[in-house]
Amino acid sequence: NTFAQIDLGEALNENIRRCKYVKPTPVQRHAIPISLAGRDLMACAQTGSGKTAAFCFPIISGIMRAQPAHRQRGIRTVYPLALILSPTRELSVQIHEEARKFSYQTGVRVVVAYGGAPINQQMRDLERGVDILVATPGRLVDLLERARVSLQMIRYLALDEADRMLDMGFEPQIRRIVEQMDMPPRGVRQTMLFSATFPREIQRMASDFLHNYIFLAV
Ligand code: AMP
Repeated sequence: NTFAQIDLGEALNENIRRCKYVKPTPVQRHAIPISLAGRDLMACAQTGSGKTAAFCFPIISGIMRAQPAHRQRGIRTVYPLALILSPTRELSVQIHEEARKFSYQTGVRVVVAYGGAPINQQMRDLERGVDILVATPGRLVDLLERARVSLQMIRYLALDEADRMLDMGFEPQIRRIVEQMDMPPRGVRQTMLFSATFPREIQRMASDFLHNYIFLAV
């Protein structure tokens, strides 16, 4: 019932201690073991539930253990191992901050890209290497069209506030993004879908994007 009892890898467990997270929140207590077991997940969780750490911790842990030695720097197209999609700039920045805090000294590099800001600085950040990309759907489609990002190596996909992304009209962009990941040769991808509500459109997304998933409502 404490983070110390969950083996997320030494560096990540140390960061969790340092940030004074002691007890997992309910969504974390259920979602983290499911993700560590390699299962896809559909979670109904509200803001403030601790959902950011619920999807960030298994991703950081998994990438840390895979040792991101393949990462190439200074090349034009980058190949992130994890993608976190979020509806807004504000939420993307928050997720990036949380993911960065917990990636400290793990060797895992996190980069954020969102719309409404110059793309050039974001492209320079990407060129320095990226394991986890946090992005808004529109800006990511732009980066894909410029061949700055390839999704062929993605092993973890998290969709945060999926209902809000649909309300904002991002469904076509999200589908284009996921299609690119499904292009052969594709490896094993683990997907986590987080939404505050579970309307028919989200149920359809879950059945389209997730494989044999576990449904979690907290
Ligand atoms: P979120 O729902 O992900 O936006 O998280 C809400 C707030 O709770 C954030 O400020 C987190 O830093 C904090 N938080 C998340 N999980 C924990 C935890 N297990 N212990 C203490 N604080 C947490």
